[in-house]
Amino acid sequence: MLQQTQVVTVKPYFKKFIKKYPTLKSIQDASEDEILTLWSGLGFYKRARNIFRTKEIIHSEHKGRFPKTFEEIIKLPGIGKSTAGAIMSIAHQIPTPILDGNVKRILQRYFSDDKNILSEKELWNLSLSVSNATNSNLYTQGIMDIGATVCTPQNPECSQCPLSANCNSAFLKVEAKKSKKMTDLKTINMKLSLFVADQEILLRKIDDQEIWKGLWSLPYTNESTSKVRNYNIEKIKHRLSHRILEIDINLKKVTKKFIPKNNFQYQWVKVSDVENIALPKPIKKVIKNHGKENPL
Ligand code: SF4
Repeated sequence: MLQQTQVVTVKPYFKKFIKKYPTLKSIQDASEDEILTLWSGLGFYKRARNIFRTKEIIHSEHKGRFPKTFEEIIKLPGIGKSTAGAIMSIAHQIPTPILDGNVKRILQRYFSDDKNILSEKELWNLSLSVSNATNSNLYTQGIMDIGATVCTPQNPECSQCPLSANCNSAFLKVEAKKSKKMTDLKTINMKLSLFVADQEILLRKIDDQEIWKGLWSLPYTNESTSKVRNYNIEKIKHRLSHRILEIDINLKKVTKKFIPKNNFQYQWVKVSDVENIALPKPIKKVIKNHGKENPL
């Protein structure tokens, strides 16, 4: 959950997730849809799909027990070298190097500075050289926490840092890095329709080729030929990590429920039930704002 997402954003989702699935056994029969529903609004939905695939593999190939070797763990969907290292160190207490964004920054600053950039290989070697601690779980959790809370990208708190005595960059000024402006990001346009019939709305399952795949969303405007009366168009802008979505939502009232004739999967759902459905955040918001309106 924490990949590219801050702790403060993740916290409520993590609590909800762990409450529903406190053990591997409890998640065993969960469908992808159920996992995505708990993820709804958190973004980067690939992580949720990977959890689904991982628990399937653990069931079929590891007899329902989480694997214990680095080689087996790294084969699981969504787990790279650094995450596998963190699991080995923290869960299994076997010293294994990690190199997430926070650790990279600490090693870069500790052994060099923000100007003489070390290569990925050099950083891995440094991580290996310092990770062979007796209490590997404490070391690994500690270095990640220092990166997240003390040695932050813009304003490292060197006076609070337990590494400051030997750090090469201690108390050096950090140059502000420019973040990507909205205008630098690629824009994708979408035209969707919010069909409302008797406080129910029509949803379509997003297929493999699209953004938000595996979630539910609104049908594309050109998917339905049914004669309906448009009454409003709402424009929304939503920022993803590398893209901007500009969505025109065509709000439509229909007197009779229908299912468009094509290969996509549809369902009509009560507006009051949208909380229980895996929907992207901006779409959920539009439904909550307009799903109960009577436009005619
Ligand atoms: S002393 Fe400062 S620059 Fe060095 S690791 Fe600690 S916070 Fe980062």
